[in-house]
Amino acid sequence: MISSIAERLMALRRELDDELRACRRAPGTVSILGVSKKQPVEPIVEAAHAGLDAIGENYVQEAKAKFPLLPEGLQKHFIGHVQTNKAKAIVELFDVVQSVDRIEAALALGSAAAKMGKRLSVLVQLNISPAERFGASLEDAPRVAEAIAAEPALQLDGVMAIGPITSDRDEISRAFELAAKTFALIGGRTLSIGMSGDWREGVRAGSTMVRIGTALFGERRYDT
Ligand SMILES: *Cc1c(COP(=O)(O)O)cnc(C)c1O
Repeated sequence: MISSIAERLMALRRELDDELRACRRAPGTVSILGVSKKQPVEPIVEAAHAGLDAIGENYVQEAKAKFPLLPEGLQKHFIGHVQTNKAKAIVELFDVVQSVDRIEAALALGSAAAKMGKRLSVLVQLNISPAERFGASLEDAPRVAEAIAAEPALQLDGVMAIGPITSDRDEISRAFELAAKTFALIGGRTLSIGMSGDWREGVRAGSTMVRIGTALFGERRYDT
């Protein structure tokens, strides 16, 4: 089966809408973030031409090299670990940061954005998986959210979480439901849950944004 990126994007949109209808949610209410880390530029350009309007990258250096080669108008989301010494570069390169998991990261981004006169949309990354190194605990998440909300240059916009790595679909759903609860508490417009292997569970738990890498672009190339 060889399908183009455009075909995969269309198929994914169709499957998303089917899943939304199945759980009595309105079609078109979940957006797709194309996760382009470790992908060459050509398929990203192809996806953009096929209508993909937002991409996610995990690494500052990689984003810096690739972004100048991409069409204009793509919304750029940072989904990697926020190192405070990279805050300035992250603010320069990205429109949204989904992965703020501690107060120091919120402060560093807030001050870098203020200096640049830029307003940055920010999600709290929540840890709902034992395999995940990063993400705020359920307990700490409200304090991280408060720190974001207190920064004039940051707009608190919701929650992002990575599901547990398991074949137990119920375990994935339970974890996503915790993320949905925290989202209800924190507020914002975006609940970013669900990736290539677990987006259906994400949608059922109330996701408003799925982050799709391999199911859209194919296997990542770790040599690039
Ligand atoms: C890599 C990555 C994804 C995409 O993963 P796929 O399984 O390829 O869809 C989504 N979110 C985050 C935070 C990632 O690091």
